[in-house]
Amino acid sequence: ARKRGGKNGVQLFDSNMVDIARTRLEIEQSIEQGLRSGWFTAHLQPIVSLADGRVAGFEALMRLDHPERGLLPPAEIIGVAEENGSIGKIGDCILSKSIASLAAISKLDGLADSYLAVNFSPLQFEPALPARLAALLLENGVTPARIVVEITEAVLMLDNPLVREVLDALSDLGCRIALDDFGTGYSSLSYLNRFPVDIVKVDQSFTRSLSSDQPDVRRKSRMLVEGIRTISHQMGCAVVAEGVETAEQWDILQAMDIEFAQGYLLSRPLPLEALLEKLDDFAPSQAPGRRAAAL
Ligand code: C2E
Ligand code: MG
Ligand code: MG
Ligand code: MG
Repeated sequence: ARKRGGKNGVQLFDSNMVDIARTRLEIEQSIEQGLRSGWFTAHLQPIVSLADGRVAGFEALMRLDHPERGLLPPAEIIGVAEENGSIGKIGDCILSKSIASLAAISKLDGLADSYLAVNFSPLQFEPALPARLAALLLENGVTPARIVVEITEAVLMLDNPLVREVLDALSDLGCRIALDDFGTGYSSLSYLNRFPVDIVKVDQSFTRSLSSDQPDVRRKSRMLVEGIRTISHQMGCAVVAEGVETAEQWDILQAMDIEFAQGYLLSRPLPLEALLEKLDDFAPSQAPGRRAAAL
């Protein structure tokens, strides 16, 4: 291939495409080296009961702690990892590290029953997953009831019998299933019917709109969130609001009888050591404003 600039030139590839290829190669190398060198970690973000401010659980969020490039977020990694087949190994690593973290957190006052929510890519749903998870749980002294498997509608949309089989097996094992980013995909409601869903996570875009400075947006998003809540409750699902950043959003969600909140107002996702230190800030008696200030 020939690259020629200028007005009459045929530009077969531009510098932008070269950048994209280089970035992709860098990510692939980071993943490969990260798996070999133990750079993958799970940061944990508390999920808090809106009724009393108690910490109910934690979501494990993947990070690649690269010695030169810093903390790489999942957005950079997951697409590439799904394409090159490394998502399975990364997922196993996140699973074992976050379950070990939950075992450590369990020793703290009032957190013996706290749960761990783990995100799964559809490609992780292989027949051996439930048995592998069960073994990991046994090893760490964690009961399956304390595990929440987070999937997005995209997973269910695949309509893959294997996904269904594995989800049913995880559910039979005693794990709960959460539908993540709810309301952003297609035909959301039918999934509540067809799959063993226990928890609905309202996407952070709805939470943000609740405190929009445009009255019309506020009013409509409130109706949407109330609608999601009502349907979820009628289907026997608990509701988590994602992306709660302000005390105002907290108050609105609390008044709506939504069970749980997750977001920067309460805490950013943190590495285990930092989280263990912070957990004192979550005493049930403290008001959300105080919690926000504690960050
Ligand atoms: P998610 O599962 O919906 O996770 C919530 C995302 O929102 C996280 O981004 C979290 O850091 C961010 N977040 C939490 N509170 C707030 C807030 O108050 N404001 C804002 N603006 N953001 C907030 P993160 O960690 O970058 O993860 C992005 C997505 O990557 C996740 O979205 C999830 O879909 C995926 N992901 C993360 N970890 C894993 C993993 O271990 N495996 C798989 N397959 N996917 C993962
Ligand atoms: Mg999630
Ligand atoms: Mg989400
Ligand atoms: Mg999300």
